[in-house]
Amino acid sequence: FRKKQPSVASLIQDINSGDKIALSRAITLVESKNRTHLAQANQIIEACISNKKNTLRVGITGVPGVGKSTFIEALGKYLTGIGKKVAVLAVDPTSSLSSGSILGDKTRMEALVKDENAFIRPSPSGDSLGGVARKTRESIILCEAANFDVILIETVGVGQSETAVHGMVDFFLLLKLAGAGDELQGIKRGIMEMTDTIVINKADGKNKQATKLASIEFTRALHFYPPKENGWIPMVLQCSALENEGISEVWQTIINFKKATLNSMYEKRKYQNKFWLLQTIEDNLKIRFYEDDAIQEQLKQLTVQVMNAKVSPFVAAEQLLAIHQKELK
Ligand code: GDP
Repeated sequence: FRKKQPSVASLIQDINSGDKIALSRAITLVESKNRTHLAQANQIIEACISNKKNTLRVGITGVPGVGKSTFIEALGKYLTGIGKKVAVLAVDPTSSLSSGSILGDKTRMEALVKDENAFIRPSPSGDSLGGVARKTRESIILCEAANFDVILIETVGVGQSETAVHGMVDFFLLLKLAGAGDELQGIKRGIMEMTDTIVINKADGKNKQATKLASIEFTRALHFYPPKENGWIPMVLQCSALENEGISEVWQTIINFKKATLNSMYEKRKYQNKFWLLQTIEDNLKIRFYEDDAIQEQLKQLTVQVMNAKVSPFVAAEQLLAIHQKELK
């Protein structure tokens, strides 16, 4: 016995009234590979799109073990405690490969999971980072339509996933640990430029002194980067997610950021929308090209010829694109 799926219209209505089950269902449609589901998902997203300005999208990254889920739980609980509604999403391009992946593990964020004003959704799985990121992007729209006002997006930072998350958030936070004086090692290229605030976690117990030193070193390092266009000067904060210390300071910094950069924040969202338009066109063009039967057939043959230097890769590519174009007419 399968329960009848609710109609698109009733899903939209329920999402708008903040129903988490409807929200979950809509995200499942977004993540589906079934064409009917995707068409329904598009209808729902179209109805949910808005220019809401009272939301904040925060990206959180850091190496495994740095304390991302502990931190998100602490921040999430703090936020629901001050009356916010918090959604937690994730971008983990490896999630289809490893089962113990980001947010997938039920024991993570136990308290937040039970919180009525929190919504937690594991990373969509997908063949490409582009696909995974797009689904998360669409889920943000749905969460905001369901009246979640803070969206936390976690990423493990595999490959280009930080860049993808940076392209969908207002504020980007890097979680770090104090080490043995080599704090700047192991920071991936480009991360410092994206970072709006570095938060050094596990500032507790024996770690306190090392955290102070690390904080000085990171602050110094940040000065070597060119100033941000929006005028914001990235900060270095300390917290203990485990002991719930420094969490409200992190939130205050995010609020200060919003106040200080409000106009450029909304401007950035406009450009992010434009970016996702172009990105989606690119993704879909590729998918349609490779799904084309005529292309699949010709591609096989031409690949052999290209590999054996009978045809140049460039001419072969042109031929295939011409075939696809003809198919479209
Ligand atoms: P993630 O892999 O980045 O999500 O990290 P987790 O949140 O799973 O944390 C990894 C480990 O660090 C766990 O054993 C946590 O209990 C511990 N941990 C997280 N935050 C803190 C903290 O602020 N202080 C201390 N001492 N341990 C922490």
